[in-house]
Amino acid sequence: MSRRSLGVALAGSAVVLVAYYWPNLGSPVGSPPAASSVRQEAALRLPTSAPRRPAKTVNAAPSLSKAKPPIPAPSPAATDQEVYGKPVSTLVAGWQDGRWVTQGDILVDESHLVSGVGDENVRIASLDGVQYWQHGVVPYTIDANLDAAPVLAAIAMIESGAQVRFIPHTDEADYVVFRDTDADICQSYLGRKGGEQEVLLHHCKQGQILHELMHLMGFVHEQSREDRDRYVRIAWTEIQPAYKNQFQKVPAAISNPAHVPFDFGSILMYPSNAFSQTGRPTMVKLDGSAFTANRGSLSALDKEKLVRLYGKASPDRRPDTGA
Ligand SMILES: [Zn+2]
Repeated sequence: MSRRSLGVALAGSAVVLVAYYWPNLGSPVGSPPAASSVRQEAALRLPTSAPRRPAKTVNAAPSLSKAKPPIPAPSPAATDQEVYGKPVSTLVAGWQDGRWVTQGDILVDESHLVSGVGDENVRIASLDGVQYWQHGVVPYTIDANLDAAPVLAAIAMIESGAQVRFIPHTDEADYVVFRDTDADICQSYLGRKGGEQEVLLHHCKQGQILHELMHLMGFVHEQSREDRDRYVRIAWTEIQPAYKNQFQKVPAAISNPAHVPFDFGSILMYPSNAFSQTGRPTMVKLDGSAFTANRGSLSALDKEKLVRLYGKASPDRRPDTGA
């Protein structure tokens, strides 16, 4: 597959993620081409699939002619739960619009790519060593062609309650640029990358911007948490095959650094029918019921995550001034 065609397939992934997660964003683009899905799924499974072990040969004495070749014992393929339900800090990243992206909307720096999978547009990326913002200070700029109002409103929500301050960038080495793009994407790096890092926003609603800001502050998707199986059941057969890796579990040190309870209401939780190929839920609560995704605001536990990781805002601080 050409670099461009897989790029398109992965771009389709991101758009479909947006369409499912934010169904009010616009017209869904639809499922990716079947061939791309098959190829991508094969590529995505490659690193974690259990190798097929050769059947044990029977050390039979040579016989005259009637001996039948040994029948290989059936080797059951690894289940999706075995493949994606084991927490790992390495995830599949795809090349999309000039950047590496994992889990639909998390940008990956080249320095976090650890290996290839035989396709130049797919790499394995490591989430190890996530850096957070020192003292909760995030220097930033907003490109002139991006509507600043919803970004500033989302920033104020992130700052509210936690010891987090977004300050206009001057000469700080590490800083964020909120940037518009041509593609319908909302993307951010996970935590502090080092140097300049982008938050890419194009036609993103305030809830989406909040979602990206939570990635920026260092948090992954809620259903990626190592303990998620104690709260949610993944309906693997309902998920479009190319998107099963979006349900990969990540070790607790990365996926729950703030040590807060699991939160169905998190702005980082996918909806119950995310990436469904049938319309039926891909994730349900353990009692079998679906749940409603939060698409608009930080939940109480989202705010608690920020407080536990960055500290509680002093009561006399005025977030709008950064003081
Ligand atoms: Zn996300």
